[in-house]
Amino acid sequence: MIEPVVLVHGGAWGVPDAWVDKTIEGVKSAARIGYDVLKSGGSALDAVEAAVRSLEDDEYFNAGRGASLNLAGEAVLESSIQRGSDLEAGCVTLIKDFPHPISLARKVLEETPHAFIGGEGAKQFGIEQGFDMVPQSSLVTNAAKEELREFLKSGSIGNSADTVGCVVVDCNGHVAAGTSTGGTAGKYVGRIGDAPQIGNGTYADDFVGAVSSTGHGESILKFSLAHSIIKQMEVGDNAQDAATKCINGMTDRLKNTGGAIVVSNKGDVGFSFTTNRMSWCYVKAEEIHYGIDPNQHLKDAY
Ligand code: ASP
Repeated sequence: MIEPVVLVHGGAWGVPDAWVDKTIEGVKSAARIGYDVLKSGGSALDAVEAAVRSLEDDEYFNAGRGASLNLAGEAVLESSIQRGSDLEAGCVTLIKDFPHPISLARKVLEETPHAFIGGEGAKQFGIEQGFDMVPQSSLVTNAAKEELREFLKSGSIGNSADTVGCVVVDCNGHVAAGTSTGGTAGKYVGRIGDAPQIGNGTYADDFVGAVSSTGHGESILKFSLAHSIIKQMEVGDNAQDAATKCINGMTDRLKNTGGAIVVSNKGDVGFSFTTNRMSWCYVKAEEIHYGIDPNQHLKDAY
């Protein structure tokens, strides 16, 4: 039997001091939600979906409500989820009408012969699956509008990058991973990042482990970050060494920052970031571990 783990991240970026407490609260709550799902008999995929949904609902994170806005001022959401037992995956992009793209991605995994649906087709699919549509304005927060104004003033993407993700291993060594984002503030209309892509934003394989990435999406997808970490574990690195090596490798090679969370099929945990901060939290063996600053590792009883 494996000691189960639920590990979440709230994005690799320069989280402002004023947001630190709320961000930590959000990742702790999401990790607990995921762990409770596992404890009550849910699958690794169920736990990933539940944890990510709670972060999509939390407007301190760039996913679901509170997502960063594109150049047209819209919240355009992307997400992916993968099950490690059979590598089945579901991915959605260019979502403007649903607050939980992770659940839509899961339906793509379970209900279609495809792995990736975007735009108008994804909207149609969501309606057919019975998801309630919400007005675009309900996804847009004042903080996201302010972030876009700042971007338009400074012309740089700056610090906006608090994508969310979750990786899980259950007591039988089954893994799953999911990632959800609004992408980068001030992105072009139609821009697609790494987060909805298997191998870049998300990867889960029971033979090795599971990964969720965050950070500069164009660099992550050029580097195939999630799958690079898996490959590194396949050749013998533990989850932590693989995460550190690949995140540093991506930053050295492409001169952009990012982060990742990793769990192995044995329950090893890894996380790494080259941004100023990345909130993370995991529950393992009835303890809750968390942090946001480099080298910070705090622990509470569950
Ligand atoms: N990787 C995401 C993107 O570029 C942003 C993030 O992780 O915060 O769309």
